[in-house]
Amino acid sequence: MYNKNSKIATEFIDHNEILDSIAWAQENKGNLPLVKSLIERAEDCRGLSHREAALLLECEDEGLKAEIFALAKRIKQRFYGNRIVLFAPLYLSNYCVNGCLYCPYHAKNRTIPRRKLTQEEIAREVIALQDMGHKRLAIEAGEHPTMNPIEYILESIKTIYGIKHKNGAIRRVNVNIAATTVENYRRLKEAGIGTYILFQETYHKEDYERLHPTGPKSNYAYHTEAMDRAMEAGIDDVGIGVLFGLQRYRYDFVGLLMHAEHLEAVYGCGPHTISVPRICPADDIDTKDFENVIGDDIFQKIVAVLRIAVPYTGMIISTRESQESRRKVLELGVSQISGGSHTSVGGYTEEERDDDSTAQFDVSDHRTLDEVVGWLLDLGHIPSFCTACYREGRTGDRFMSLVKSGQIANCCQPNAMMTLMEYLEDYASPATREKGLKMIEREAQHIPNEKIRLKTMENIRRIAAGERDFRF
Ligand code: SF4
Ligand code: SF4
Repeated sequence: MYNKNSKIATEFIDHNEILDSIAWAQENKGNLPLVKSLIERAEDCRGLSHREAALLLECEDEGLKAEIFALAKRIKQRFYGNRIVLFAPLYLSNYCVNGCLYCPYHAKNRTIPRRKLTQEEIAREVIALQDMGHKRLAIEAGEHPTMNPIEYILESIKTIYGIKHKNGAIRRVNVNIAATTVENYRRLKEAGIGTYILFQETYHKEDYERLHPTGPKSNYAYHTEAMDRAMEAGIDDVGIGVLFGLQRYRYDFVGLLMHAEHLEAVYGCGPHTISVPRICPADDIDTKDFENVIGDDIFQKIVAVLRIAVPYTGMIISTRESQESRRKVLELGVSQISGGSHTSVGGYTEEERDDDSTAQFDVSDHRTLDEVVGWLLDLGHIPSFCTACYREGRTGDRFMSLVKSGQIANCCQPNAMMTLMEYLEDYASPATREKGLKMIEREAQHIPNEKIRLKTMENIRRIAAGERDFRF
């Protein structure tokens, strides 16, 4: 029985409610006045229910589809402006006891070399990332009770925060590790993590169990209820996501929104971020084995409708996506992207060889961080290395109320400009620097609050003179 307030996985992600929602959406997709009324109502930025969002996703009318995309763009602009936050994944270890059929780190894959970074190797990777200009990382590790215990993760976080190389610093470490206990989430919280990220992969229980035949991850309920345990432990920024292409996309789309509704209903705060990875090839993984792989059109529609349904939730895409695909979804709602990423263990300090790559997935976007920054500037986005909210204690519902109040324009934009200025001073190529300085000059005029505008410009001058780490 569907109950978004329940803490039982199969009740807040109720199979029949998902099927009924999809059926209702398909029955009503020809009801254009209804679709139009939802688009009009969503203009108030209070979001949509999973059923309403499912209906927009079904919409095939070209005129209304254009309205959906236009609304997504307006909402994106209103709450996030034109800043795009940059981050990089850091793979710590690919030892894993699970049997996920879509991931090359699955325990039975004997062709992939297993690696686990020592603390010294982590320090070297972090220095390499700092030298690129990164300030925000997402650490990734397979699940392995003896090779990657929680103590190893905690020690690694301490190492990462402790490295200060030249003007570099990692100011926010997000963590993407397997579902764990309330006690371990508490320890992660104490270690100062930013967002705890865990992808559901698919919300379809039967399919989930087929795709995860062995290992602790095969327990659907334990995995699906992980965010509840994280929130009980005090981690109020959590990131959810599905791997589009594993199940029929409609099912996972509705499940994703039901998960968001559940967190909002029970903890008063929805997910901090939603990630929208699509399945892609990797060692021992062929996308031809997955019949539900989605095309670019559907992918863009998913991003646009998510932007409308959960306007206050950040949206992330990775370098799995090509440059062109990223360009399109940036406009429609994505607020964070990775740049200059290596998806293998030790990938930032060692040359990846084709024959022994330890990559978790193939990267489609191979550009350097500087190239990505320059490209964002060319497209009119402000590349941002901001980590201010977390460091100012604006997490969970405090963060949400800031976004809802629309004050992000007086906060995100100046922070984006100041962190971009740091990047331009310390790491940018001459061409990127020139473009970035012009962008800062232009954007300064658009900060609505005069006091903040003046302060931002003063801080920009101080950064040019050698000071660092200003934030609102
Ligand atoms: Fe292990 Fe995660 Fe890969 Fe599954 S997806 S095999 S848990 S690393
Ligand atoms: Fe993100 Fe907060 Fe910085 Fe805005 S001010 S970019 S919401 S960390």
